[in-house]
Order: sequence, then structure tokens, then C-alpha cells
Amino acid sequence: MWKITENLYLAQLPMIIGPTANQEFNKNKIKRVLTLTNEEIPEKERLQNVDYKFIPLFDMPNEPILSNGTLEEAISYITESVEKEENIVVHCLAAVSRSVTICAAFLMYINSWPVEKALKMIESVRKSIGPNPGFLAQLKIWERCGMSFSAEKYKDLYISVPGQPDVDSKTIWRQPIVNGRTKVHFKCRQCRKTMFDSDNIVHPQLAESCQKYLIEPMEWLNITAASCTINHSCGAKLGTFIAAGSKCNGCNKFVKRWIFIDRSKVDKVEPTI
Ligand SMILES: [Zn+2]
Ligand SMILES: [Zn+2]
Repeated sequence: MWKITENLYLAQLPMIIGPTANQEFNKNKIKRVLTLTNEEIPEKERLQNVDYKFIPLFDMPNEPILSNGTLEEAISYITESVEKEENIVVHCLAAVSRSVTICAAFLMYINSWPVEKALKMIESVRKSIGPNPGFLAQLKIWERCGMSFSAEKYKDLYISVPGQPDVDSKTIWRQPIVNGRTKVHFKCRQCRKTMFDSDNIVHPQLAESCQKYLIEPMEWLNITAASCTINHSCGAKLGTFIAAGSKCNGCNKFVKRWIFIDRSKVDKVEPTI
């Protein structure tokens, strides 16, 4: 088991049900188990005087954790344990994606940390971590929404790309538009609505000729095919979307999930605060 923070531990399944489980539990004084897999820990594998909670979770990029209350349920169970100063272990199968995602969310929640900081902290204890891209995108959305649990906010942020075989790029989590005033932000030239800010630009500007406005999937993004024109809600044709990715004509780097916004269709606005 890996100790993440006071009262919180991370583990793989064999540490929970294997022959050394008893020893591990005693050594770390574990009182609660949060299981994030496809199957509950069988009755006969459970230890006495330990509370077990099961939240079914698949390790897939299209698996929701925000809109269905998964994150809220997991965090409230961990928080309850930590407040009672009882040691809790969070586990999935390999302690790489699902359980790491939930531990990161807890750290973000109690410390008001950005997702990168939470993941770095976990990585300093457990070397091989790798939340799937869908979980990462949702943690980022959650961070940008101020770690709010309101499921209503998140219900339309997931879209599927028609006609795209790769599951990784088939699933798209759209980022919300957040308070554009404090950062360089970009408005639609036609309707004046803020569309994205400097944080949403994904391609590093290596060369002057690099595509400047390659962005993350945004809330307003409408996708009709694996590659299509990007239209704003006002009808303005903004650029192109290519799910499979494309090569940047400036640095020759391949950009996965190409979302290109034409510079002539947007206005750059400097921060006002
Ligand atoms: Zn517009
Ligand atoms: Zn480039």
C-alpha cells in the first residue's frame, strides 16, 4: 500500500484480497476500503472490523465520473473517514487509473489544488500512475468548475465522434468556458461571445508559423462527423475538426484530435484584471 496523505492509502487488488492482505491491513491500521472496480469484494474475502464500500467503475475514457455523482460519492466516503481519523484504502485493479483518479480528486477537493499538483503528489509516492484520458479531462473540467459537485453542470459535456474507430479519440469531454476576464481570451468576431482562453490552447507555439489556435474540445463545440467544419452557435464557420489528428504546418508535429480555429474569425482580448 502507498500512503498518499494522512489517513489515505492507495492499493492494488492483490493487497486487498491476497494472502498478505491481513498483514497489510494491520500494519497500516486500515478501517475502510473503497473499491473502484467492476466487481464487489466477495463476502468471504472481507476482513473483520473493516467497512467496505463499492462504487462500480470501468477504466474507460467514456466512463462518466462527474455527471453521475461518482466523484461526490467517493469523496464524501473518504472525507468521512479522514475526519474520524480512520485510515482508508482506495483501490482498483492496478492502482494506475481509477483509484489514482479518485485519490487525486480528493487531494484537489481538500487542498483546493489543481489536478497537476494532485497527480504530482501521488506520483512522488507511487511511480507508475496513469489516469485514462477521459478521467483526466473530467478532473480538469471539475477543476475549472471550482470543484463543484452540481451534476447538472456536467450533463452535456460528453460527446461521441461519429465514424471514429479509436476509442481514445472517439470520446470527447468538452471543457467549460470559465471567467474569461482574468486571462487572455478569445471572442467570436460575429457574435462577441467568449469561446476559449489561453489555457485552452493545446499546441505549443514552437514556430511563428505554427497553428496558433489549436484548442481543447470546448462546451460550444458541435461535432457532426470524424472530420467536419466547426460552426459556432451563431452560425459563424470557425475552423475545422479532425478526430484522427493532423500535422501542424509550422513545426511538422502531429497533433492528435485537431481542433483548428481560424485566426480571422476570432478577436484576442487582453485580461482586464
Ligand atoms: Zn459566434
Ligand atoms: Zn506547430
